[in-house]
Amino acid sequence: MNFQPYVLQDTVNESDDVRTFRFAKGDGTLPAYKPGHFFLLRLKGEDGKMMQRSYSVASHPEEPFLSFCIKLKGAFTHLLWKLKSGDTVEIDGPYGIFLLRQEDTERVFIGGGVGISALRSMILQTVKHDGKRACLFHCAHEFPGLAYFQEMKSLSAGNPLFKFYPSITGEEKPAGWNGMCDRIGVPLLKKILGTFEDKTFYLCGSKGMVSGLTEALIADGVPKDRIKKDEWG
Ligand SMILES: Cc1cc2nc3c(=O)[nH]c(=O)nc-3n(C[C@H](O)[C@H](O)[C@H](O)COP(=O)(O)OP(=O)(O)OC[C@H]3O[C@@H](n4cnc5c(N)ncnc54)[C@H](O)[C@@H]3O)c2cc1C
Repeated sequence: MNFQPYVLQDTVNESDDVRTFRFAKGDGTLPAYKPGHFFLLRLKGEDGKMMQRSYSVASHPEEPFLSFCIKLKGAFTHLLWKLKSGDTVEIDGPYGIFLLRQEDTERVFIGGGVGISALRSMILQTVKHDGKRACLFHCAHEFPGLAYFQEMKSLSAGNPLFKFYPSITGEEKPAGWNGMCDRIGVPLLKKILGTFEDKTFYLCGSKGMVSGLTEALIADGVPKDRIKKDEWG
């Protein structure tokens, strides 16, 4: 392991319990990484012991910071929530194999809640650099859980190559909500996408959502090598 000190540049509150943290090294440099990679973050706990957790990178390698979109949960994230701009966190990476396949014809990104973190970086790569047809299904219980909603809406506006399908599954919707209200499953995907041929699926979110969808896609005939997944929590 090769932990390096990174300085917290700033944070953005995406909702009450989801926050984007932006880091850079003291000399302003950043590590080489690819969309889909994850990093280890390490901090000293209140008992003086070091704690570490894994986080998917939300930034694109061309952005001038390393960012992570994180949901407040337990011990480590409560430490993160106490950080201020200028504080130091030890970061090691990149790691992981949840990476884009260059041979893809069309990409279907499916994220549950904070699972958008890894997908944001992959979507920026797909839309701004790879020029491939793609779409994002982002599902959350409430509207504030749809982190990066405005950014995804802007990316898809007037863009024939990128479609955005947000969905709120809980009872409360913002006034005038005209997005979907369904969980993402094979019947819904079939209705919107038509055929699954020539499509590669990138799934990121809770274990239940990702493993359930993976099984359903395989049962529907999607080859395993066209389903890439990152499941946690
Ligand atoms: C490869 C990888 C990438 C990841 N990327 C991300 C990412 O981009 N963003 C992200 O937010 N997380 C990500 N995670 C999860 C992250 O590593 C931590 O597991 C998560 O932040 C919880 O850490 P914690 O110390 O705050 O919770 P812990 O104290 O470790 O709690 C562990 C578990 O206890 C339960 N729990 C504890 N407190 C609560 C609570 N208040 N409410 C509900 N459940 C609770 C949860 O089931 C939780 O998972 C990733 C994990 C992996 C393996």
